[in-house]
Amino acid sequence: MSQIYNRVALIGLGLIASSMFHAIKRAGLAGEVTGYARSEETRDTAREIGLCDRVCDSAVEAVEGADLVVLCVPVGVMGAVAAEIAPALKPGATVSDVGSVKAQVIAAVAPHLPDGVHFVPAHPVAGTEHSGPRSGFAELFDNRWTLIVPPPGSDRSAVERVEALWQGMGALTDEMDAEHHDLVLAVTSHAPHLIAYTMVGVADDLRRVTDTEVIKYSAAGFRDFTRIAASDPTMWRDVFLNNKEATLEILGRFTEELFALQRAIRTGDGDHLHAYFTRTRAIRRGIIEAGQDTDAPNFGRSNRG
Ligand code: NAP
Repeated sequence: MSQIYNRVALIGLGLIASSMFHAIKRAGLAGEVTGYARSEETRDTAREIGLCDRVCDSAVEAVEGADLVVLCVPVGVMGAVAAEIAPALKPGATVSDVGSVKAQVIAAVAPHLPDGVHFVPAHPVAGTEHSGPRSGFAELFDNRWTLIVPPPGSDRSAVERVEALWQGMGALTDEMDAEHHDLVLAVTSHAPHLIAYTMVGVADDLRRVTDTEVIKYSAAGFRDFTRIAASDPTMWRDVFLNNKEATLEILGRFTEELFALQRAIRTGDGDHLHAYFTRTRAIRRGIIEAGQDTDAPNFGRSNRG
């Protein structure tokens, strides 16, 4: 794979940015990668572990001369970061982001960007429950989808370059509009996370089941919920606050189905339960066939999620 950008700037140095850095280096996709994170502690860690060719003490310094700037911060601060870096962006540069929500991020970022700077939002649908500069690894995006969400009228060559970068990092790519993206992700990621948070919260409230029992017997399904519910609280707070409509729509449907299943259990309607579980089993099979998970024990997961 050859170089796609001369200089890439990563703003925010957590799981996604550090994985991007390693994946960019693995394939030689950029001449230089600069980085910036809000806290001195994270910047020091990044310097210590060699994350980024150059770690800068301000976002403005990091983006100066960059051909691509990727915002890798929580969704709720994307707009403020865009406002901060806007005056320092090189004419002709591309700004992208990795936020898990797209419509609100586009609304928050786009108004700050000067004419002549391209905006190509993206979302790698890959992650783990870990966060911070030490949590990244080059393989995170391999064979996982990255959704490119260009606003209408985007410059095609800028879009194709961002897409090529993600493909170079190992990802499969697809294009989608922002509203559709947010609905799809509400179904596949945001609502499931909220359900996992709730389930773990319920177990925590249920004092009749001891902590040791919860831990000891968690392989029976609960363990996957706890893994999801260990995800970064700031990131997930921002996801729900910024994908309100789609998440509430899916949770509404979820609640209705839950009531229907609850009723089937109470009335002893085994046919309803069996038909429902047969339908859901087919969805699981489809995911495995699409290569997005494995049938191996423990879902083939290593500690890296
Ligand atoms: P993370 O590991 O928690 O890292 C977030 C980074 O953002 C940290 O370096 C943090 O700096 C920095 N930051 C926070 N507020 C900032 C501000 N106001 N100005 C500058 N930097 C700031 O997060 P992540 O998991 O990489 O997530 C980053 C983005 O990727 C989010 O938008 C998220 O929605 C998206 N995403 C996440 C996943 C996932 O599974 N984790 C998957 C796909 C997309 P400090 O360390 O100094 O606090």
